[in-house]
Amino acid sequence: MLEPMINVVYPRRCPVCGDIVTPRGELACSSCKKNLTPIQEPRCKKCSKPVESEEAEYCLDCFKKRHKYIKGFALWLYDAGMKKSIADFKFHGRREYGEFYVSEIVKRFEKEILDIAPDALIPIPIHRSKLLRRGYNQAEILAKGIGKELEIPVLSHLLLRNKNTLPQKQLNDKERLKNLEQAFEFSEKEKERYNNHIHKVILIDDIYTTGSTIEACTNILIQNGINEIYFICVCIGKGY
Ligand SMILES: [Zn+2]
Ligand SMILES: [Zn+2]
Repeated sequence: MLEPMINVVYPRRCPVCGDIVTPRGELACSSCKKNLTPIQEPRCKKCSKPVESEEAEYCLDCFKKRHKYIKGFALWLYDAGMKKSIADFKFHGRREYGEFYVSEIVKRFEKEILDIAPDALIPIPIHRSKLLRRGYNQAEILAKGIGKELEIPVLSHLLLRNKNTLPQKQLNDKERLKNLEQAFEFSEKEKERYNNHIHKVILIDDIYTTGSTIEACTNILIQNGINEIYFICVCIGKGY
């Protein structure tokens, strides 16, 4: 088969090793895919972080915090390899890596997503200044890719990020969450545009580590009458 011209002139780079993909035509090297750590059982029934034993229903974090979202899904462990991949995707202009992540998310979670039957996908917003610098919101690239594949509307402006928050080490968990919640804003106008028919959504982001961003966004959506919230991330940290 002839390769599309674009692949000949700009051969696709592998989101894992950063070199030209082998075999050509794939979204990532077949050997590199094997180096990623898929999230498998045993995992937390809430956030899906890997847990140590089958007996542990929840990770330490979910056990302690009682998140208000219903459930989350993630593809891979956020290990050294994924850290580099996501950093290139986010900060070094490799937005095409999103195609690989999207295709893997759809492959792995299509059934779960269709079972949830969300009214919309909501990318976690980034601040305008970051958007200008970066040129794109990586979470929006993911949401749009998934939305296109599975025909689900993507609402990129329902949540807005109006403040940049710095990590504030002197704050306790509760204060930190409150601080983070204040960085996000809900757009009533955007909800009205969809005739208020938004009840069940999936938040989309690249990484879930402490879960505080997803938690803050969940709380804001609930405060605004959107009660069923799930999330999907490309990578997640360990739950133990
Ligand atoms: Zn590779
Ligand atoms: Zn958990």
